[in-house]
Amino acid sequence: MTRNFPGRVDVAIVGSGPCGAAYARVLSERRPDLTIATFEVGPLLAEPPGVHVKNIADPAERARAQRRSEGPASAPAPAGAGEAAPRLARAGTFLLPDGYRQPGEDGLPNVAMSSNVGGMGAHWTAACPRPGGSERIPFLPGLDDLLAEAERLLGVSAHAFDDAPFAAEVRKRLSAAFDTGRTGDRQVQPMPLAVHRHEDGRVTWSGADVVFGDVTRANPRYTLFPEALVTRVRVADGRVRGLLVRDQRDGTEHEVRAERVVVAADALRTPQLLWASGVRPPALGRYLNDQSQVIFAVRLRDVEAAAGIAADPDGGPEIVRHSGVSWVPFTDEEPFHGQVMQLDASPVPLPGADRPAPGSIVGLGWFCAKDLRASDRVAFDDRERDGYGMPAMRIHYRLTERDHATLAAARAAIRRAADALGEPLDPEPITLALGASLHYQGTVRMGTSDDGTSVCDPTGQVWGVQGLYVAGNGVIPTSTACNPTLTSVALAVAGARHIGHTLAPRQG
Ligand code: FAD
Repeated sequence: MTRNFPGRVDVAIVGSGPCGAAYARVLSERRPDLTIATFEVGPLLAEPPGVHVKNIADPAERARAQRRSEGPASAPAPAGAGEAAPRLARAGTFLLPDGYRQPGEDGLPNVAMSSNVGGMGAHWTAACPRPGGSERIPFLPGLDDLLAEAERLLGVSAHAFDDAPFAAEVRKRLSAAFDTGRTGDRQVQPMPLAVHRHEDGRVTWSGADVVFGDVTRANPRYTLFPEALVTRVRVADGRVRGLLVRDQRDGTEHEVRAERVVVAADALRTPQLLWASGVRPPALGRYLNDQSQVIFAVRLRDVEAAAGIAADPDGGPEIVRHSGVSWVPFTDEEPFHGQVMQLDASPVPLPGADRPAPGSIVGLGWFCAKDLRASDRVAFDDRERDGYGMPAMRIHYRLTERDHATLAAARAAIRRAADALGEPLDPEPITLALGASLHYQGTVRMGTSDDGTSVCDPTGQVWGVQGLYVAGNGVIPTSTACNPTLTSVALAVAGARHIGHTLAPRQG
């Protein structure tokens, strides 16, 4: 049976990840008079919509939810032949099947996306550090207020693992290696995480469900449409008019008129949809930046004795509480950011049949800030189509000399951290294939004027198209090394507030 899509809404949101959800939440709180609809190409994984897959208790159900997030079945599996490092997709994500590298360039071999209600926010690690130094957006008024609001929406806490027995020792050792000369906010500290520690000790991870919150779920004027691909944003006479949606269940197409359209479809597919809609400002897709990533695994030295406890050999799924998650913040002098976490929450694979004492092996991940250049970009091909029938992506991407120097310094820093903590499991830190960070930014960046170097203004509104907003990591204009979601949710809050202030109540 054909689904009923609304003929008209006040606000249409494309994408149901944390940033699209932030628009729905802020508008539900501030403007309950507005009709709002979210269109999401991926399926609903579980209730409540946007839930993090780690909160799905049954392992088979969780694995199924991850597989259902992995994009159109027509996308061919990545071959990876001839790659220096394997092309690896994290569970719940799918790699761009082709076009990820142009001849003679570095490319982004591991560039990936998620298609599901909740987006990548159903699969993420939930690290939510605040940006510092040159990572911060200098022209944005009230950035700290916006970040605080984003922390509220995501349910961020730096104290979820305060009682992790090895955490204090891990941070003491990292502090000794890194804190000299750093201001307080840039010293080693617990990583703020979007997780909730329940009274019974259980931990749940925030997905878009937490951002939506009860207020959105209870809003009678709000509707979420899963398996609904937005193929066009309708624009006429410098104003947004609505969008065209394809029901993925039966292939039918539907026009939806809207006063405001928010495209929060990730840093690759937001510019793709604008391109497909004929909205093509010069900076669209440009300044693409990924955070080059270095990883290392370390067996903590003498940790049970230092923490004064015996390790629990049957740690099981609660293992994460032993060493918590620690943060070595970005500084302008050291333009990378480190996170140190127990291995069950980290991307570093454990070698062979090694069965460590719970919490005694930590994964280290260092992320580098990129040297921003307009020539690094996602371009779109009007003749070739992707698995959804949208313009195919072509990634143009190179590391500069400065990027190589930053990577070398990050490798030295992760080695310094590892030596402070214990014995590394590998002889050398591992540099992951570009794109592995899953933190792509800059492609719809904000700026202060329509000078060709930005796509939107500080409220997220696209230059020259009244009522069209963009959201997500692509909006971040600075070069950051910290995990970007907290910042992009903060920017979404600014955009949603702007809509809330400026959209007149509907007449009649
Ligand atoms: P997304 O969450 O990507 O959501 C975009 C949604 O738009 C998707 O659901 C997609 O299906 C939908 N969409 C796309 N095109 C269309 C269309 N045309 N029509 C309809 N719908 C469309 N970030 C951090 O800050 N900290 C971390 O610790 C962290 N760890 C991560 C670990 C993993 C394994 C992964 C996968 C990601 C991680 N990230 C982390 C990244 C984080 O998940 C993203 O930054 C965040 O989800 C971005 O939110 P978003 O709403 O902008 O986009």
